Amino acid sequence: MVKIIDGEALAQEILANVADGIRDLASAGIVPGLATILVGTDPASDTYVKRKVTRAMAVGIRSFEYRLPASTEQSVLLALIDRLNTDSAVHGILVQLPLPPQIVANRVLGAIAPSKDVDGFHPVNIGRLSIGSKTMTPCTPLGCMILLDSVISNYRGLHAVVIGKSNIVGKPTALLLLERECTVTVTHIETRDLPSIVRTADIIVAAAGSPELVRGSWVSPGAVVIDVGINRVMDEAGRSRLVGDVALSEMNHARAVTPVPGGVGPMTIACLLSNTLASARMISNCSKHWVRSSA
Ligand code: NAD
Repeated sequence: MVKIIDGEALAQEILANVADGIRDLASAGIVPGLATILVGTDPASDTYVKRKVTRAMAVGIRSFEYRLPASTEQSVLLALIDRLNTDSAVHGILVQLPLPPQIVANRVLGAIAPSKDVDGFHPVNIGRLSIGSKTMTPCTPLGCMILLDSVISNYRGLHAVVIGKSNIVGKPTALLLLERECTVTVTHIETRDLPSIVRTADIIVAAAGSPELVRGSWVSPGAVVIDVGINRVMDEAGRSRLVGDVALSEMNHARAVTPVPGGVGPMTIACLLSNTLASARMISNCSKHWVRSSA
């Protein structure tokens, strides 16, 4: 019987720890602050930012919200980031992706002070991740690892197949799995015969953005499947619903699988807030804690 990994429950545990950590910092007069920047009015991005802000405030993080029009020039966004980099009330800066076409995402992400880069996308933090140093680990990959940790105790020699090679999910997840001594195969849209590769996997991390791409026949008995995808589809009755990149109903022979919704999504937000607490501790010199790149 496949285990459905409860991402919401694990996220609640992390959030409870974050709330405890924030109470400790309060005794030193420090309130962690998270600045969120949304450029444009994309409804999905708007929902993600609202969720992050609501959960941040619920654990005691001070929220600074910036909503800029879709026509915002890159120079304006960079000036805002410069200001936030030096604002002592702000410990984390999050720029919601995607950005409008006139803005170069890598230029903007690279402008965030690495110590306030709670998304873990700055080249310095990605570089640290790639050499196995302690760093601000990207939230979704970190969430995937915590979900995997809930069912796997020894990763050594396991074959992990990551579907998708984006800078924010696929590549950092592959690096984290390598740190655990997995043999890692990173696949993407041009990969030939993806089902055959996936069939050899002990661990599958699906981050393609393709609804129910991974079928039951692709998954070997006993594999652990992490579904990162979030896809809105219409059912036969014309109602909209969320599905992942994995056909969940076909996973009965897997060892464990994350659902969509309720799997990776809540973990991403919990890890973001955990990174914000780590950043506040570090900036305030209250602790030498960094979020570890691997447990
Ligand atoms: P992306 O578009 O940047 O990258 C997708 C990757 O998947 C690319 O490398 C592409 O080559 C590969 N790919 C696409 N279709 C494929 C196919 N048919 N076969 C093999 N590879 C394929 O996307 P992303 O930002 O990495 O996000 C991926 C998915 O994860 C999306 O659905 C996104 O909404 C979701 N996501 C979820 C969370 C979360 O918190 N749950 C966070 C980030 C992204």
